Amino acid sequence: MSNSDVDVVVVGAGFAGMYLLHELRKMGFSTRLLEAGDDVGGTWYWNRYPGARCDIATTDYQYTWDPELYTQWTWSEKHAAQPEILRYAQFVAKKHDLYSGIEFNVRADDATWDEKAKKWNIGTSKGETIVCRHYVMATGCLSVPKDPDIVGTERFAGNVYVTGRWPHEGVDFTGKRVAVIGTGSSGIQSIPIIAEQAKEVVIFQRTPNFSMPAHNGPPPQYRVDRLKADREAYVQEARLSGTGVPLEMATVSALSVSQETAFEMLEESRQKGELLAIGNTFMDSGINRQANEVVAEFMRTKVRSVVKDPEVAELLSPYKHGYGTKRPCMDTGYFETFNQPHVRLVDLGVNPIETITETGINFGNESLEFDAIVYATGFDAMTGAIVGVDIKGKNGMTLKKKWEFGPLTYLGLTSVGFPNLFMITGPGSPSVLSNMMVSIEQHVEWIRDTLVAMREQGFDTIEPTPLAENGWRVHCTDCADITIFQDANSWYMGANVPGKPRVMLPYIGGVGRYRMACDEVVRRGYLGFELTGVGKTQCNDGLIRQVQPDVDMVLEMMGTLNLPAIESMTPTGAREFSEASSAARPPGPEVGEMLDATLAGAAGDLAYRLYRPATAGPHPVMVYFHGGGWVFGSHLSDDPLCRELCVQSNTLIISVNYRHAPEARFPAAAQDGFAALKWVHENASSLGGLPGKLAVGGWSAGGNVAAVVAQMARDNDGPALSGQLLLCPVTDGSRQHQSHLDNADGYILTRSLMEWFWNHYADTDDRNNPHASPLLAHDLSGLPPAMVVTCQFDPLRDEGDAYAQALSAAGVAVNHVQARGHIHTSITMVDMLPSGAPYRRQMAEGIRTFFAHG
Ligand code: NAP
Repeated sequence: MSNSDVDVVVVGAGFAGMYLLHELRKMGFSTRLLEAGDDVGGTWYWNRYPGARCDIATTDYQYTWDPELYTQWTWSEKHAAQPEILRYAQFVAKKHDLYSGIEFNVRADDATWDEKAKKWNIGTSKGETIVCRHYVMATGCLSVPKDPDIVGTERFAGNVYVTGRWPHEGVDFTGKRVAVIGTGSSGIQSIPIIAEQAKEVVIFQRTPNFSMPAHNGPPPQYRVDRLKADREAYVQEARLSGTGVPLEMATVSALSVSQETAFEMLEESRQKGELLAIGNTFMDSGINRQANEVVAEFMRTKVRSVVKDPEVAELLSPYKHGYGTKRPCMDTGYFETFNQPHVRLVDLGVNPIETITETGINFGNESLEFDAIVYATGFDAMTGAIVGVDIKGKNGMTLKKKWEFGPLTYLGLTSVGFPNLFMITGPGSPSVLSNMMVSIEQHVEWIRDTLVAMREQGFDTIEPTPLAENGWRVHCTDCADITIFQDANSWYMGANVPGKPRVMLPYIGGVGRYRMACDEVVRRGYLGFELTGVGKTQCNDGLIRQVQPDVDMVLEMMGTLNLPAIESMTPTGAREFSEASSAARPPGPEVGEMLDATLAGAAGDLAYRLYRPATAGPHPVMVYFHGGGWVFGSHLSDDPLCRELCVQSNTLIISVNYRHAPEARFPAAAQDGFAALKWVHENASSLGGLPGKLAVGGWSAGGNVAAVVAQMARDNDGPALSGQLLLCPVTDGSRQHQSHLDNADGYILTRSLMEWFWNHYADTDDRNNPHASPLLAHDLSGLPPAMVVTCQFDPLRDEGDAYAQALSAAGVAVNHVQARGHIHTSITMVDMLPSGAPYRRQMAEGIRTFFAHG
């Protein structure tokens, strides 16, 4: 008789449940593991369709937690077939005596949280109720086949097969007329084998998919060698990688090489026969549509080179989704299959299925008879198995109801209102965008360690806070927003199931970064969780990832470079360093014309660059001042941003140099700025500007110059300005604002660098002068409308915010934008950080608004 009150109930005996059982036992937790099938293996137990294989190489798709397995088990192939993977699962289960802890042919039907007892009651298909402290769903991401959603499916009197529920005894299609519906991974793997046997095969395709040859064979030697040389290092690299497979990160943009070179590079990747190789050829195919199109077209050329009938080749070529935005497939002879005379492709876009009949399928104007229909129509992915159990949390709220508009989780592991419920590879975790083995092991270990920590510290419950859960949702969305994944109607987006909310289900920020977030949560005392025990509560509420994901990647990359602090350099050294850093950046968009010249400054000529839109002029004019802490930079140093503002706002931008400190200290920059403004005003018409449509703008120290110049113009009877655009401006030399402490270090512009800038620029007394610290001006009324953009993780954030507020209080029209998750430099990084693009668009819109009136 099994214990009906245990520490942990686990549902699912796939690779996740098996490992978890092993770990929980090891740690002395009493456990019940329920499995609906009659053996271990999970996905590899159910998916027995012909040709079913794993697309991740066996060197990587295997447990790492038992090092003995590396010698005790030898994989026969690079991409193991389903029977071999199932045998591996069985081997592990036997070796570790897991069978004795698993109850087969039992489903969890419902789960109800008992708030008084602080326990879950799990109702099983055997009519039993199991009481447990913790409840873990190890139910897999692709385990519930979706309803094919086709009229008449129940009518067909022939044989019906679903790839995800294939008969254990196998199917012989010899001499049969077979319809296959669906061309995802399951369809693409099974079709060539079905076609080998069947008399006739008709494939009903709604969406063509990208597929590459698996080049199956022995396990990849270079991976085998690396594993043998240093298994720990290899495994660690996988754990910290983007996808759970050691891969050298791409550093080349698909747009930076000719198509010929791009195709050569892609061919090299394709020859590797590794799922992730093609998508990893270029650094930008997942985030830039144009870059992705290079890859997509390469893949289409491959289809054309194999499929003899050009019309069929065209039908098999994906055009409506980017490469990788739907899970790419690996095949063995898939496209070749369509050259066989008994194989036919039906494009459901042109000839939709009208109904399935007793004997076949009616579609378009045709009616075909079949002996068998194979549904390779996919899964209710990621959430289907979880909400398939009637889970009632606190106050009777069901998880299904809570997730009505999309799953809400903290770390993809837990959900508010459902204490002590854990999901392995749940929505909001890398899961299906990773090597599942790596993600499974990470979750199992995180849950194990959490339960042990709770036991040691006397806590009975753990539940995420609403703040943390919402923060994770925002972070997941931020990650998805910088990619092009959301363009596709994929199952990643829930788009394959009618009525399912359309949200990016997996976490797309990468396996390594995700793992670091989970570890950090623990290190910071279970940040974002509330833990309770008898007479005690612990809650370190907060957010785990707030910096925009692409900004975070840049910071991480810069961290690895061990760059010297700028403030440790001489001004000359800092200038050289800054110029060298700018040299490698993307140039920004093409403008109509760029012109370099000089104008009269306060004490000699100043260089400037004019950016003219391609549209017919004359244009409104913005005089722009560059950043660089008054010490470095030039009229060219913010080139990509100036180009982008020019193009997007249809404004003539004149980026002006000004004298730099320490050679020319305060007020040289301000005086040069004002002189430049007057010169541009006087020469506006000859430059192609619209008289009377003049604004100033600048970033950082340039934002300071712009704000000061706007005040000088007001106080010196002009020129009249239509607006001032201040991006992360320096406004207050006192640097007493909280953001100087909050963001003192780690976000490129540091507190000490800011101190260095000020020391070079202005004496302590001068810093109180409004021409150095515009926030200190006694009167801010009468200034032109302002757009002030501040960044959350910028030491200058609060002084920028304060200036926006002070301007507003003085009656100035202010458009104040606070860029969430950004740092001092990130918005200027055109074509490098997609998360900055919306703010640049807003700035351009802000400039247009300056000029829209009067
Ligand atoms: P899938 O990728 O969702 O493919 C389902 C196919 O059925 C799609 O072509 C879909 O068209 C089509 N379809 C669905 N409903 C339809 C309808 N009512 N009428 C006509 N066509 C319909 O499912 P899957 O192939 O089972 O693969 C799911 C995932 O499982 C894979 O992406 C992969 O992650 C995993 N998997 C992995 C392996 C492996 O590692 N080797 C093998 C199999 C599966 P639309 O695209 O238009 O929706």
